[in-house]
Amino acid sequence: MATNSSFPPPPSLSAKYSGLPERLAEAGIESKTRLLSNRTLPASVPRQSDVPRVPPDTTRAEFNQAIGELQQILGVDNVAINDKPLVDGWYMEHPNTHDAFHIAPQEELVSSAVVYPGSVEEVQSIVRWANKHGIPVYPISMGRNIGYGGTAPRVPGSVVIDLGRRMNRILNIDAENASCLVEPGVSYFALYEEIQRRKLPLWIDTPDVGGGSVLGNAIDRGVGYTPYGDHFANHCGMEIVLPSGELLRTGMGALPGKDGADNPTWQSFQPAYGPYSDGIFSQSNFGIVVRMGMWLMPETNHQSYLITFPRDEDFPDIIEVIRPLAQRRLLGNIPQLRHVVQELAITGRPKSDFYKGSGPIPRDAIRQSAASLAIGDVSWIFYGTQYGDAASISTQLELIRDAFSKIHGAKMRLPKDLPADHCIHNRANICSGVPVLRDLDWLNWVPNAAHLFFSPIVPTRARDARAVHDIVARLHAKYGLDLLPTLCVAGREMHYIVNIVYDRSSVDEKRRSAALMREMIAETAAEGYGEYRTHILFQDMVAGTYNWGNNALMRFNETIKDALDPNGILAPGRNGIWPRRFRGKGWEIKGTEVEDALDGKRIGPK
Ligand code: ADP
Repeated sequence: MATNSSFPPPPSLSAKYSGLPERLAEAGIESKTRLLSNRTLPASVPRQSDVPRVPPDTTRAEFNQAIGELQQILGVDNVAINDKPLVDGWYMEHPNTHDAFHIAPQEELVSSAVVYPGSVEEVQSIVRWANKHGIPVYPISMGRNIGYGGTAPRVPGSVVIDLGRRMNRILNIDAENASCLVEPGVSYFALYEEIQRRKLPLWIDTPDVGGGSVLGNAIDRGVGYTPYGDHFANHCGMEIVLPSGELLRTGMGALPGKDGADNPTWQSFQPAYGPYSDGIFSQSNFGIVVRMGMWLMPETNHQSYLITFPRDEDFPDIIEVIRPLAQRRLLGNIPQLRHVVQELAITGRPKSDFYKGSGPIPRDAIRQSAASLAIGDVSWIFYGTQYGDAASISTQLELIRDAFSKIHGAKMRLPKDLPADHCIHNRANICSGVPVLRDLDWLNWVPNAAHLFFSPIVPTRARDARAVHDIVARLHAKYGLDLLPTLCVAGREMHYIVNIVYDRSSVDEKRRSAALMREMIAETAAEGYGEYRTHILFQDMVAGTYNWGNNALMRFNETIKDALDPNGILAPGRNGIWPRRFRGKGWEIKGTEVEDALDGKRIGPK
């Protein structure tokens, strides 16, 4: 791939808190060039609607007056009105004005303004301001949860609180306790580089791409791939601004340290005493998390490997082999099982390189193309990593190889057996806590690519794996979209992750993708499977499937929401939780509203 790009390089980490480490400068230029060269959409189009989009129940005059007050509180430079053309950018230079990966029309999910607090006190002031004016606010940390809504608020016209820009300090790294305390704007890249700079023998755990917020990803319950891969399970202690403006510390942080210091076990013991409250601040709209502790993993030896399987029909048998290995904790991390079509996509080459026709790439075309790759004409690929000393890793690999040998044709390979450009080398980095960029490459699959994730939780069992796979495959065929599955398989459940990649310039492709999401959510829920996370426009639908006991869970969440946020100002609608003020007034998306928006109907009350 040529690196003599006509695009300016992405900002570096030394120049900008959200930038790219120097070690990845060249990879950044390559990735940017590849993605932007595969774009036919103009950088921006003139906005059609009134700008800025004002908050609900607020006149333009009231909005202007309220914003004037906010500028007095934060300074004019820290309040930006969202009235410029919308630019989607790319991962490292993403907008904070809208959802860059729009599935509804680009202008639907926009904020009225973006504000940049520089301290916890300023966050409290913003929240008090929001209560006074009844204007909804929507906090983001880095805004890089692409595929889930990015930086867009669920209610158009909300004021986005971009916490990361000015609150991006690593407040502490405790090498003895193997933990850290961070603000919202600390990315995986930044935390990793700081640990290297201090030469500490500690690993972080990173998702597939390293630009996200350590704090934001954990509270949205994101995952990574070292033994510390469950981010929320490895957080320890939070500081939260409540919707009233009050400040709360959870866990041991609630017990004051000596002489006003932070409690010495704030980052050591999670639940402390009494109800364990942290959970209600994840995937919710009950508070703004301004500080969070995370555990770090002591560094160790590691060995990544892959195992290929020759036939599509091997899928249920592979799951049956993984279950006991994972339950015995023999697998070092949460392994990934990918279909070979993902091997084509991760090369960064467009789909048109492999298939010239229209519609989903046929199995034969996948087979022919895979045959020319290092991995060969296989079907499923298992990516794992083992940890420990060399002797123990070698024993573990023997046991794993032996277990999979039940499946005819299974073949284990190590990174040294594969060419330098094979993605296993990238996986080996991720699985040892080194944040990277390469997993953006599959976005080159179609022009102007964006993606949505559909990720049901499925028992680690052959019959369930088959049931979900059949639904998902049938509906992908119905809507004429490529099926790109990756499974993160644990001992008792697996996240069956489908990546719907669509062309942002095609209203038809967006409509089919939205309909596919809607039908997959409904059909899998009817069989008892539910999603662990979803894009903001599908959160009502997913939350609606968790309806046991006459919606007991949602009624419980609404009770908490109304008690903590009586004016309904904090991220209304996030995770399907609507405050009383908005509830039942036409904001909920339970049917074809996303598709209708593509036909020109507005999202929200009519
Ligand atoms: P990333 O870590 O991937 O960059 P974001 O900053 O976009 O992610 O966070 C993901 C989502 O989590 C946001 O859209 C927002 O709804 C929620 N969120 C992020 N940071 C906070 C926070 N500090 N307090 C409350 N909610 C947050």
